[in-house]
Amino acid sequence: MKYIHIPKILKIDFDKPVPFKQQIAVTFTVLIISCLLFTVVYFQQLLSGNIATETERETKTEASGSEVPTGAEGSTVTSSEPDDAQQSDSSKNSEVSEVSEANAETLGSMTSVSKSYDDIHYGELVLVNKDYSCHSDGENVESIFETKSDSYVVTDRYVSLDTSIIGYVNSMLDDFYEIYGATDIMIACGYRSYDTQVGLFNEEINSVGTQTAEQWVAPPGYSEHQTGYVFDLDLNIDGGNGIDYSGEGNYAWINEHCSDYGFIIRYPAGKEDITGYSAEPWHFRYVGIPHAQYISDNNITLEEYFDIIYKHKPDNPALMEDHSGCRWCVYFVEADEARDTQIPVPENYDYSISGDNCSGFIVTVKLG
Ligand SMILES: [Zn+2]
Repeated sequence: MKYIHIPKILKIDFDKPVPFKQQIAVTFTVLIISCLLFTVVYFQQLLSGNIATETERETKTEASGSEVPTGAEGSTVTSSEPDDAQQSDSSKNSEVSEVSEANAETLGSMTSVSKSYDDIHYGELVLVNKDYSCHSDGENVESIFETKSDSYVVTDRYVSLDTSIIGYVNSMLDDFYEIYGATDIMIACGYRSYDTQVGLFNEEINSVGTQTAEQWVAPPGYSEHQTGYVFDLDLNIDGGNGIDYSGEGNYAWINEHCSDYGFIIRYPAGKEDITGYSAEPWHFRYVGIPHAQYISDNNITLEEYFDIIYKHKPDNPALMEDHSGCRWCVYFVEADEARDTQIPVPENYDYSISGDNCSGFIVTVKLG
């Protein structure tokens, strides 16, 4: 202790009454030491990851697919605020109108469908990003070389997609061809297996380094291409040597109308902090019409859309009207990890059930 200098005013002689000035000095010293200790402990916890910053909390909520507390009726959902001032795209600060809400009576009499916990990993609404890996690997894909329409080309005969979406791709590109007569649209890539992604990722790391590679190429198991619900467009002008498609000029029609065929631009500009990827106007993801149109019309990402849908259960389904005036109900049912989940579904309406790849199932009901 002889090496630590203690000011005279802090030295207390317990045999005498403590002067008032000394009481004040001691109290302040104790307060300052407490504040310093608190600050040190707080930053230690922050660095160790036990305390999340505001941005981290928002990202975690979106990525985890956990339920967001339901706000007051008519409240708005705001996309997360960017903490990087350089990313100034206005779309990131846009407010998203809360989706309309129906009630249990809208769906009429109900029955239930049983699904296992593993089923949450399958369906056209699975969320695959840097937090949620893809569990399927080509179970329902087929080459589109024979089944594609004549209004576009493919890089080779191995370009494959989930069989359920081939018709929608053909319709969209047929309609584009009808309007513009363009003959250079090419699907450069569809389903990509886990093993293919391993090679692609390593190639990119060797080429541009790990940090840059991760902005453009998903690590193996985390690529949306593995779902089979995704394709990249290119222009057939240099044999597919790099992506030339930018969604501009006449091609903007495809990016503006893709939601009418059930597709979204999965990595839009200005949403890099949410999707984790640089903008890719050539990367199209199928999610189905009511979802794609809502996402596109409100300029949100799939992650942000899930945060909205998670608030809607079978007794307060989201009510949507698509561009053709057809009404849809959409709701979320959390999966039971211990046993099969009984999913309430309407007896009198067509519906589809998709896993969300995070925690449950999204039911889409066509009311008509
Ligand atoms: Zn892609």
